[in-house]
Amino acid sequence: MTFSIPGLAVARGIAIGRAVLVGSSRVDVAHYFIESDQIEAEIERVRRGRNAVAEELQRLQDEMPHDAPHELAALLDVHLLLLQDEALSSGVKHWITDRLYNAEWALTTQLEVIVRQFDEMEDEYLRERKADLEQVVERILRYMKGVAHPVAPPPPNASRRKTQQDLLLEDGMDVPLVLVAHDLSPADMLQFKESVFAGFVTDVGGKTSHTAIVARSMDIPAVVGARTASQLVRQDDWVIIDGDAGIMIVDPSAIILAEYGFRQRQMELERERLSRLRHTPAVTLDGHKVELLANIEQPADAVTSVRAGAVGVGLFRTEFLFMGRNGRLPDEEEQYRAYRQAVEGMQGLPTTIRTIDVGADKPLDKAHKDDNINPALGLRAIRWSLADPAMFRVQLRAVLRAATHGPVNLLFPMLAHASEIRQTLAQVDLARTELDERGTPYGPVRLGAMIEIPAAALMARSFLRYFDFLSIGTNDLIQYTLAIDRADESVSHLYDPWHPAVLRLVAEVIAECNAQGRSVSVCGEVAGDVAMTRLLLGLGLRSFSMHPAQILAVKQEVLRADTRKLSVWAQQVLACDEPANSAPL
Ligand code: PEP
Ligand code: MG
Repeated sequence: MTFSIPGLAVARGIAIGRAVLVGSSRVDVAHYFIESDQIEAEIERVRRGRNAVAEELQRLQDEMPHDAPHELAALLDVHLLLLQDEALSSGVKHWITDRLYNAEWALTTQLEVIVRQFDEMEDEYLRERKADLEQVVERILRYMKGVAHPVAPPPPNASRRKTQQDLLLEDGMDVPLVLVAHDLSPADMLQFKESVFAGFVTDVGGKTSHTAIVARSMDIPAVVGARTASQLVRQDDWVIIDGDAGIMIVDPSAIILAEYGFRQRQMELERERLSRLRHTPAVTLDGHKVELLANIEQPADAVTSVRAGAVGVGLFRTEFLFMGRNGRLPDEEEQYRAYRQAVEGMQGLPTTIRTIDVGADKPLDKAHKDDNINPALGLRAIRWSLADPAMFRVQLRAVLRAATHGPVNLLFPMLAHASEIRQTLAQVDLARTELDERGTPYGPVRLGAMIEIPAAALMARSFLRYFDFLSIGTNDLIQYTLAIDRADESVSHLYDPWHPAVLRLVAEVIAECNAQGRSVSVCGEVAGDVAMTRLLLGLGLRSFSMHPAQILAVKQEVLRADTRKLSVWAQQVLACDEPANSAPL
């Protein structure tokens, strides 16, 4: 039966395919497709994991002190029995053999399948065994995580080729896969970046949560905040993701499928039409040149950005190099190579490298999840860097060295205090001194500050005493101005870029920079939102940094804009008490 699940639209387009459910294990689990000659090895890994856990449980039972509560022995018995459970082992085998899931993914998928069956049971005792099964699977996963990985994740392209070949429809067409999960961390999402998925849906997350941002950068239809989607959808269900409307349709009827198929083709035509603008300079009707830059997460994205028509990188979110590594941070050499790759990929165009911004909804990995009461207000971004200056300078030295390969801007996130600015700049000086002492060459960098805290926006003039340029991070500026957690879907209706308070802060920063003849850009998600382009132009903005996939659509808006008319209208919008977003034609 067809039904739809509403959520938040985060990445545009339509995907039609079969659902692949990813479990939300408490253990950090890798998800990737294996090659068919790896099937046996993967099954063997699960077997070894299961045997090792069984031995461990047996040993615990043998060594149990006599005075231990007898419930403990009974619990170990239950766990030992569950380890031998036929439904678990045959299911895991199925996901590995028929779907080419890696061992950990197969285990968590089968766990979800069984857990659902438990949930539907009448018998309370049996229902409670669910937690036992979860613990048993978690033990196996932990064991597998601690031992060497005989099967390396295949290169992304190999997995794409393999999976699609193996999942052919009867009529010879590839079956696209749509990933459905309760939650995906930004690092998980990045892992899927090169994979086969045609769309994403998660139960949680806001429009500008970092998971949504990565989904958008993948230019794949995605819906977040779909609440119970991962419980309502079953493996293999046919689903449609409507990334524009922010809904998922499950088990669509033939008529709905035909309608969405039609809309999908229309969108492809629109993309083709836009691609003709790639080499057209972004100039408004009244002759203002506008700089359209790219936001990137990985060095390899630089090349994509140039291809998409970006005239530089306005924001390289370097934290993605640090995530999902179990706390082992990349050393100077590794970082230098990554930054150099990005800089060289830009072929002489400027690359703005932002220092690490972890914390809040961007944990380094699951083991380092921030358990503070309010992580968005905690040790995040520059605060995290300044808390460990030696580690911070590793990154600074790597960036300075990369600047010998092309023009680099160095950008600092979440500054608010003059003392933080002074400490940050002192660390840059010290990093240069260290390189001098080592005789390591480094290049010139322009220094910039993110404006993403209201305090910083109000202090733009004094920031300009220290920095060459400013970059407005509206994602956080909105979050901190309106006190709305950007990752929390329950308050997402209040997360409003058009709120006059937000607009006034943005307008003041732009005006201050323009008055002083200093460069300013917006690198938050609003920069890639075509509904905001004219307003930002009207406020005097001439530099926008966004996901490469949005560049041509924004360019189209720029080409149609007359800033003389727009600036009059923008002043009226600023004066409104309520969000007012109907632009003049
Ligand atoms: C922002 O806050 O607008 C920004 C660009 O930084 P991030 O989204 O990485 O927090
Ligand atoms: Mg930010």
